[in-house]
Amino acid sequence: DFEKTIKVLIVGNGKVGKSSMIRRFCTGTFTNTYKRTIGVDFLEKVQYCRDLGEDVRMMLWDTAGQEEYDTITRTYYRGAGACVLAFSTTDRDSFRAVSTWKKKVEAECGEIAMVLVQTKVDLIDQAVVDKDEAEQLAENLGLKFYRTSVKDNLNVDLVFEDLVSLADQY
Ligand code: GDP
Ligand code: MG
Repeated sequence: DFEKTIKVLIVGNGKVGKSSMIRRFCTGTFTNTYKRTIGVDFLEKVQYCRDLGEDVRMMLWDTAGQEEYDTITRTYYRGAGACVLAFSTTDRDSFRAVSTWKKKVEAECGEIAMVLVQTKVDLIDQAVVDKDEAEQLAENLGLKFYRTSVKDNLNVDLVFEDLVSLADQY
């Protein structure tokens, strides 16, 4: 009962849906009400890892809404073994910021398991990012790419299932 533990970061601009993604994966819920996260906090979930053939305790760290003020502390990044880079279907700035977030994480954590995630694909009629350019970015950054919706519960579990396997390779 002493399973491996991995700290997972979810980074990206404010309001792209990071807290919602964490809550969906860990508790299976979604709410439309925007709640600013108070303090650096995490939720955890035990996830079976196909490649290891055993359970891994994933600690999903959330930011305190500090991402908007560029004041994320070292405590947040320290010891992370995997990272989700998130941008929103409806937020062009969040798409442009992806490379910057990747560099920040790598500056603190070095090379760790990472994936690129487009959030809120249920809002595709309000999309400001093309399918092609999103795929191009993933290719340029050398990252696996997922389109997700927390609202429709689309691909959220898949992201973390794959991430835990990927992290095992580092
Ligand atoms: P954070 O600042 O990155 O943590 O973003 P939040 O998780 O707080 O979400 C910001 C807003 O986007 C909230 O109003 C959420 O309800 C909404 N949201 C998050 N995920 C989705 C989604 O998949 N679809 C839609 N339509 N809204 C979402
Ligand atoms: Mg949040």
